[in-house]
Amino acid sequence: MANIRILPETLSNKIAAGEVVERPASVVKELLENSLDAESTRIIIEVEKGGQSLIQISDNGVGMRPDDARLAIERYATSKISSVDDLFSIQTLGFRGEALPSIASVSRFSLITRDQSSDAGTEIIVEGGKVISVSEVGAPPGTMVSVEQLFFNTPARKKFLKTVGTEMSHIAGTVARVALGHPAVQFRLVHNHKVVKSWPHTSRHLDRIVDVLGKDVKSNLHAIELSQNGLAISGWIGSPRITRRTSRGLYIFVNDRFVRDRTIQHGVFKGFAQRLVKGQFPIAVVFIKIPFDQVDVNVHPTKNEVRFVNPHQVHEAVKSAIAQTLYEIDRVNWRPVNESLRRESQNASTVAEPMTPFTPPGRVTHPSKQAKFTYPEGSFREPATDNWQPASTRQQPAAGSQQPAAIRRRSQEPIFESTGFSALRVVGQLHNTYIVCESDAGLVLIDHHAAHERILFEQLQRRGADQQAAAQQLVVPETIELNFREAEILGQMLSDLKTFGLAVEPFGKNTFVIKAVPALLAGRDVKPMIREIVEKTAAVGYSPGLKDALDECRMVMACHGALRARQALTEKQIEKLLLQLDACDHPSHCPHGRPTWVRWDLATLEKSFKRIV
Ligand code: ADP
Ligand code: MG
Repeated sequence: MANIRILPETLSNKIAAGEVVERPASVVKELLENSLDAESTRIIIEVEKGGQSLIQISDNGVGMRPDDARLAIERYATSKISSVDDLFSIQTLGFRGEALPSIASVSRFSLITRDQSSDAGTEIIVEGGKVISVSEVGAPPGTMVSVEQLFFNTPARKKFLKTVGTEMSHIAGTVARVALGHPAVQFRLVHNHKVVKSWPHTSRHLDRIVDVLGKDVKSNLHAIELSQNGLAISGWIGSPRITRRTSRGLYIFVNDRFVRDRTIQHGVFKGFAQRLVKGQFPIAVVFIKIPFDQVDVNVHPTKNEVRFVNPHQVHEAVKSAIAQTLYEIDRVNWRPVNESLRRESQNASTVAEPMTPFTPPGRVTHPSKQAKFTYPEGSFREPATDNWQPASTRQQPAAGSQQPAAIRRRSQEPIFESTGFSALRVVGQLHNTYIVCESDAGLVLIDHHAAHERILFEQLQRRGADQQAAAQQLVVPETIELNFREAEILGQMLSDLKTFGLAVEPFGKNTFVIKAVPALLAGRDVKPMIREIVEKTAAVGYSPGLKDALDECRMVMACHGALRARQALTEKQIEKLLLQLDACDHPSHCPHGRPTWVRWDLATLEKSFKRIV
């Protein structure tokens, strides 16, 4: 073996660059993080040829004094941590002290910086890791870093660069992610002298989210908020009706750092459970605040990954925060008339404007069906506020206290509108598959199979919960023969199936006898269903009492028991179906995630007919 020697610094920097600087977008990310750590409020990113000929980032942050500027381009030079303890409570985006020297080792690099207290700025020019000059220059307070001809001295890396368009889209994605997390900072992205993105500073986070994600999502965003076990989850999620084909609409921030984390992603999906069909990805911007000592950010040089001390807790918190919001926006008939105003007054600092709720089917004014709804005790104190009500009275506890005359008068009026399915006027059936309904807001179609599946699924869930199976004994018990593996699985599931009202008993070898079925499956051929249950639960991994496996069984049963498409329904059946749908916890999707209803607003219809333009 050859002699061992310490590598010269220019070489070790290049090696570090291999990890940190994968492509132009990585340079943008590192420089943006530095600008944010320097408390900038305005950052301009100028790029030429997708970042291959120039990346220049200027900020109005705290800048550096001349001696600090010199140090900044040294390896392991950082102002952000100084002890091992600091490493385990990192509050800045950077901390490794290797971005600037790494970038400077694979480009023609210049740094111009001036701190507030200095009269002049400092300019440092580095080429391929060699310092060419250090001089005093006139400069505004702040920092400007220019990176020209990235990878000019590492042709192997350069070869991997993609087209200008691809590299530019990576850069735009990077800037978008950073901008989402920092609404108070103004960002401008310029490519080949054209402004590509410009995000003004804003104090309202939602405005920035809409700016970045696009206006089309605006009316479909819903706030999430939850604090538990020292964790605070906040952010916005898109309604399950607007989804993406990839995870690109998913933004996760841990203590303001954008991260890619499978645990949290999984938590997001779990929060959306049963509302997305296979292959659909939700839109979500999730901010997680966690005590600094509960998360390790020093996992990878790119700092895109984190490790949690208690990942399960984070997973559950994210899941619950999302599930809670989706549950609330599904409460079509629990919504007080002024729900959006109530939310706004409670939440004025986080919600920019009354958000259009997950537009429920709407209401038909129908005096005989005027909903008489009462809230569960304690969940809602006072009829929702209107603008007429002075702000001070909003805070007053309502129960038993003196109410201003205005409130007393208002509370005589109906305060809850029935927006439930049973309040819709049924027009008829379409192709014996969809129930056609009229609402105040327009036209609603209900997929009766999907709706019925949802109803049966929740009935089975409740039944499972109180262990009272409404079973129907079979007059002539049926036998079913399975292969060895299937028999093995079914054998373990028998007691769980019994809680659903499905009584199956071993009958020697791989044969079983079906003695009773849930009432909802009466008269159906249950053998194919049992095979399907065995297959599906085997796929998720069966263990007794495991919620996912049980839900899988319920889903199969609900699907087999539900009204079929292309089936004529009587008026009574439809009426009952709508009432039962109202009673569901999650009425808007079938257990597989398909929507149970779709709506066309009058405005949309009128546009189609060119009544309005
Ligand atoms: P790190 O960010 O991990 O500390 P860097 O190599 O990215 O390492 O930066 C080294 C140091 O240079 C930082 O710790 C900071 O003190 C200083 N620095 C870099 N960029 C800026 C900037 N835009 N404004 C002010 N100081 C900066
Ligand atoms: Mg840095």
